[in-house]
Amino acid sequence: MSFERTQEKLKILADAAKYDVSCASSGSKRSNASKGLGDATGMGICHSYTEDGRCVSLLKILLTNYCIFDCAYCVTRKSNDIKRAAFQVQEVVDLTINFYRRNYIEGLFLSSGIFKSADYTMERLVAVAKKLRLEENFNGYIHLKSIPGASDELMKEAGLYADRLSVNIEIPTREGLKLLAPEKNREDFIKPMVKVKNEIIQYQSEKKIIKSTPKFAPAGQSTQMIIGASGESDQQIMWTSNYFYKKFNLKRVYYSGYIPISYDSRLPQIGTDVPMLRENRLYQTDWLMRFYGFEVHEILNNDHQNLDLDVDPKLGWALRNMEHFPVDVNKADQLMLARIPGLGMKSVYKIIQARQFRKLNWDHLKRMGVALNRAKYFLVCDSRDFERRDLTGPQLKSIILQNTTSKYQKILSPQLNLFE
Ligand code: SF4
Repeated sequence: MSFERTQEKLKILADAAKYDVSCASSGSKRSNASKGLGDATGMGICHSYTEDGRCVSLLKILLTNYCIFDCAYCVTRKSNDIKRAAFQVQEVVDLTINFYRRNYIEGLFLSSGIFKSADYTMERLVAVAKKLRLEENFNGYIHLKSIPGASDELMKEAGLYADRLSVNIEIPTREGLKLLAPEKNREDFIKPMVKVKNEIIQYQSEKKIIKSTPKFAPAGQSTQMIIGASGESDQQIMWTSNYFYKKFNLKRVYYSGYIPISYDSRLPQIGTDVPMLRENRLYQTDWLMRFYGFEVHEILNNDHQNLDLDVDPKLGWALRNMEHFPVDVNKADQLMLARIPGLGMKSVYKIIQARQFRKLNWDHLKRMGVALNRAKYFLVCDSRDFERRDLTGPQLKSIILQNTTSKYQKILSPQLNLFE
């Protein structure tokens, strides 16, 4: 294989992989054993930010962009007239090792179109990971995309070599999937997830008894949903997330704003804006559910089916539930402190620590980094009260937006903009 041909394939297959955002690698504990290559300990995401703000790089490619399916939202679908290419297993291994040795990458994110069948494709993905681990002694991070419909045996093998596995559920609702990818079946996504979840639990419990038990997908499993391709509400999206987090112990759900790539009456037209701000709000809501003790129905329900775009979901919830405020920071429990707009979990822990020794006032809170410009409307402390008029939620929203225009106008970034 000539260098030029490999380069050309790399260009095609790296470009095709860019639509997949589910490449977080946080949480891996694989360490460098026997003087092998690489060390995934503490690694994060492919040219992106981990939950704790670190940035790392992965070689992110497809094994092939040939596909037997024709999902309307996907650039790789078989009816799309694009350049196609396929790597051999050894080519991906060689590329990974070469890039790793040159310090270009810290690991591999490998996905694929489905060629011939789910198992035929999955077998090759597993072969790449197996060769890297067993023949190249590679200890860098490996994230393998699981192919919907792949057999239990292959999923089990994949988990022995990969740090993280993921199956993309793609479309948040069954109806949407039926409309845009009628050949696909939701059960084909669920089956590999069940297998991975059960194997993780089994390997973890065996490890407690037999220390030499190998790790199985130590960074867990994740999934991705495309947002805005099938007309679903934010409520439907977050209920789906909630279900998958709880049912399959997912580490992360990724939300990827749909990029219009085809002329198809079932989809938003080409030229429609990618819903970046909506994507951001969904990530914030996801964060509130996982770390702040919120339930989906508190933020999204039949009366409020979509997230506000002009304020973050925590502030939005507070403005609709003014009866819970003001909260006394010297008395409230952790759960209620975490609900005060302007307070992140770090501030909450600082408050709980500090108030054991003294009553907290505005100065203390300011020094702890609390964003008082918002928080002052929602809390009381050991200072003279901030002059609080009897404001309704909508009145307060308008005051906050007037005073903090720049913050709320600027959050068009595709990266997470989480809570202070
Ligand atoms: S099966 Fe996957 S790669 Fe193939 S068209 Fe559907 S989404 Fe794209």
